[in-house]
Amino acid sequence: MNLEKIMADLEKKNPGQPEFLQAVKEVLETIEDVVKENPKYEAANIIERIIEPDRVIKFKVQWMDDKGNVQVNRGYRVQFNNAIGPYKGGCRFHPSVTEGGLKFLGFEQIFKNSLTTLPMGGAKGGSDFDPKGKSNAEIMRFCQAFMAELYKYVGPDRDIPAGDIGVGGREIGYMFGMYKKLVGEHHGVFTGKGRGWGGSLIRPEATGFGNVYFAEEMLKTRGESMKGKIVSVSGFGNVSWGSIIKATQLGARVVTISGPDGYVYDPDGISGEKIDYLLELRASNQDIVKPYTYEFPNAQFFEGKRPWEVKVDVALPCAIQNELNAEDAQTLVNNGVMCVSEGANMPCTPEAMEIFLKAKILYGPGKASNAGGVATSGLEQTQNAMKLNWTAEEVEEKLHQIMINIHEACVKHGKDETGFVNYVKGSNVAGFIKVADAMIDQGVI
Ligand code: NDP
Repeated sequence: MNLEKIMADLEKKNPGQPEFLQAVKEVLETIEDVVKENPKYEAANIIERIIEPDRVIKFKVQWMDDKGNVQVNRGYRVQFNNAIGPYKGGCRFHPSVTEGGLKFLGFEQIFKNSLTTLPMGGAKGGSDFDPKGKSNAEIMRFCQAFMAELYKYVGPDRDIPAGDIGVGGREIGYMFGMYKKLVGEHHGVFTGKGRGWGGSLIRPEATGFGNVYFAEEMLKTRGESMKGKIVSVSGFGNVSWGSIIKATQLGARVVTISGPDGYVYDPDGISGEKIDYLLELRASNQDIVKPYTYEFPNAQFFEGKRPWEVKVDVALPCAIQNELNAEDAQTLVNNGVMCVSEGANMPCTPEAMEIFLKAKILYGPGKASNAGGVATSGLEQTQNAMKLNWTAEEVEEKLHQIMINIHEACVKHGKDETGFVNYVKGSNVAGFIKVADAMIDQGVI
């Protein structure tokens, strides 16, 4: 595999898409040996095929705001690869959404979904629509307009979207409602649905729960556990609160949360009523975490700063891509961090990742550590297909086992001769082999 040539060609074909190029480079670098050892992959030209999405659907979304003005946004669905199952991946509504960003997320999703061992291909979608400050009626009209186009390309055996940043239960409800009206069928075309109409218990907290289960598995390899650990978490969204709840349940003390405005340090730990308050704060559509310190005065707010300067045992970045850079990584390492497990997608920059790998700390890349969300979506699809509901305990038990299995797969493919586990390599190789073999089995189509 000529990595330099592949990357040069990719850059030429995808100008102005740095996150996509970054994600591809990271995967290709770690699977180079496997490709070399297995000539069948080069013979079938798997690399060039796997880095090109099956299709990118791009469309106009027109909707009317509360003042009667017509607004125009862009909608996307990147259907990347369906070798091992129907396309599957979330929808993101955020002003930063671009085609390149969604290609990065869709590409990552291929390997993540493969790692779960469930039959799901890789996709991602969304819009540059900003839900912040919009009324409920505006959100509904936007979701309906978005679905008026997207419904043509999705279906329970074709492509099953879900939530992501800016898309929670409410948005899924409005999109599902419009889909149902247009298609005339009530089936599991979305995951993250409401509990009363096909949703799975545990789905909202699954990504965070899975992230902490993964961290616990990594810690076990060094005879450690979450019990008694001091933990920093970034963000205060869906993945953050799931991580906070599970870390607390396992006996850790979570001392930070953050927003784009800065971070909160609460030395007493964020648990119990404080988590309820966080959920209220989140539901109020606020984009700041500072009010937490008015409610709990022992906590301090650090404006414009990130939580990585706090001395902790375990760090869980759960907000957004590239939120932890080389300087942050070095600070964490200097402060003795033993484990970093990514709740968000690609929150650590490549330079930060290098620092963690060089320091040989336990570093779980999002592809593996946050796969519990999509795994539980897969479990929701199974429940829909079987037309029955599992209890919260049943879903959580399955989620826990999946995270243990993902960890095992990473160890199998990522352990070197010194016994150090490179989870980046392990997750990429394990995810890649299954998809690549399926592509070969299915021929050139
Ligand atoms: P949410 O929108 O619920 O939460 C994101 C949180 O991060 C918000 O609190 C947001 O604040 C905060 N945030 C945004 N930008 C920054 C910033 N620059 N600094 C600090 N905090 C910031 O999204 P999710 O929790 O669902 O997703 C978070 C991450 O996890 C994303 O990378 C997503 O792709 C990934 N992920 C999510 C899964 C899921 O099941 N939801 C599954 C797998 C991965 P604000 O709202 O003010 O912007």
